[in-house]
Amino acid sequence: MDFGEIKGLYDDYVLSTYTRTDLCLVKGEGVWVWDTNGKKYLDFFPGWAVSGIGHRHPKVLARLEEQLAKILHVSNNFYNELQGTLAEKIIEYSFPGKVFFSNSGAEANEGAIKLARCYGKGKRYEIITMEKSFHGRTLATLTATGQDKVKVGFSPLPEGFKHVPFNHIDAFLAAITEKTVAVILEPIQGEGGVNTADVKYMKDMKKICEEKDILFIVDEVQTCMGRTGKMFAYKHFGISPDAMTLAKSLGGGLPIGAMVVSEKIKDVLGAGSHASTFGGSPIVSAAALGVFDAIEEENLLENVAKMGDYLVSRLREMKGRFEIIGKIKGKGLMIGVELNIGDASIIAEDCMKEGLLINCTQKNILRIMPPITVNKTDIDLALEKLSKVLEKV
Ligand SMILES: *Cc1c(COP(=O)(O)O)cnc(C)c1O
Repeated sequence: MDFGEIKGLYDDYVLSTYTRTDLCLVKGEGVWVWDTNGKKYLDFFPGWAVSGIGHRHPKVLARLEEQLAKILHVSNNFYNELQGTLAEKIIEYSFPGKVFFSNSGAEANEGAIKLARCYGKGKRYEIITMEKSFHGRTLATLTATGQDKVKVGFSPLPEGFKHVPFNHIDAFLAAITEKTVAVILEPIQGEGGVNTADVKYMKDMKKICEEKDILFIVDEVQTCMGRTGKMFAYKHFGISPDAMTLAKSLGGGLPIGAMVVSEKIKDVLGAGSHASTFGGSPIVSAAALGVFDAIEEENLLENVAKMGDYLVSRLREMKGRFEIIGKIKGKGLMIGVELNIGDASIIAEDCMKEGLLINCTQKNILRIMPPITVNKTDIDLALEKLSKVLEKV
């Protein structure tokens, strides 16, 4: 099928809830993807970080092939061979506790919201979240999200959510009432423009939460699996959360989400209180174990630190040459480049024409999140393409 036919089918049969770019990707390998015309692109925003270790990573494929020969799905009323191993792996890299598996980030956060409500026992139910945050598109998670644009048309929204400015401890303190049960925040806001929490802010917040018995929940849906140079981004801040949510990169391209809860609250949700038909099935668990294999066996956390430094230093160099480049933000390979223009989406579009996929968020922030397997040659090539585009502005 050519692109016109493919687009035609979408026009006729697929709900138009997305702003879609005229590009159909048919093949992916590592940091590269190909479109219907055989044109190849360097993918520095692989599926909103889903293909975090690159497309079709051999370690993921190996785990999948092994599992494909056995069984794809097992109901959660039975045991499957891999879900427990994956949960153990996640706990090994985070904090003592337990894991619930879902299919997406929103669903993981929905679980965390339900957990917080149960923890509050009907007396406390207010959840504090951050302005410019993003937590998903279900009714509860879009209410938790600190951006009005995702809420338009969906009233009445569930009660009990409050938004405060990010990185303002006083605003957080002021928002707490006797009904507050939890705070949910991204250690580094993704959709919000790649805004990193201050270490002191996270530490102060954790301390306040401990004093007031408020659950400290981190949304690591975008920052997980090595994206920032640690397996989970909260580890940069010298704190440990009461719960965290994962998705995107966790499945190496397959849909899986997880809510990880600490010892203290591992019994809040008991049998019959929460469920997800597909959650943690053998096939997605196999893929996620493949992601851990890759990160461990290929020292990818080290690679993120090195390549993140290299990418940022090259961007700083470019900042000297291009007045349009403002602040360079982020951690590891989660990088935001502020552009001093009203609308930077045209830059992302022009990069696409040059064969480089990146994202633009909050109007003027270029979001660059290459696969964590990326090397210097890939980065040099990507920045050559970006420079070419910026020269024309
Ligand atoms: C993408 C994202 C979500 C939502 O995940 P879905 O899988 O799209 O439901 C939630 N939180 C953060 C921080 C995200 O980046």
